[in-house]
Amino acid sequence: MNPKDLPNEVWEALCRRCGKCCTEKVDIDGVIYMSRVYCRFLDPSTKQCTVYENRFEAEPDCTDVPSGIESGIFPADCPYVQDIEDYQAPKEEWDDPTVTDAIRSILGGDAV
Ligand code: SF4
Ligand code: SF4
Repeated sequence: MNPKDLPNEVWEALCRRCGKCCTEKVDIDGVIYMSRVYCRFLDPSTKQCTVYENRFEAEPDCTDVPSGIESGIFPADCPYVQDIEDYQAPKEEWDDPTVTDAIRSILGGDAV
């Protein structure tokens, strides 16, 4: 079965509650970079969504799992994407200070 077709209960059982998919991402020249800024609805202590049942209404940028896979919001070590061969994970590390500056200019000084 295509992982994108799995039911919601299966996704929830696979999730390790790391919270990384609920961080702000920045697209710079077609490359997606992960920041340390959590969605305003993520509880940073539990890494749980505080509006889970109504998340798509509460946060228009929140995506379902198949759409999140398509847009590359899940980190490379997320169980949701580990078996997807051509999956492009967001970058969590980089050496380019211009990328760091660009992300900070968008999300603030503590973003990366
Ligand atoms: S990145 Fe994956 S493991 Fe981490 S919270 Fe999101 S779905 Fe769960
Ligand atoms: S609204 Fe969406 S992005 Fe925000 S914490 Fe909940 S699940 Fe994560």
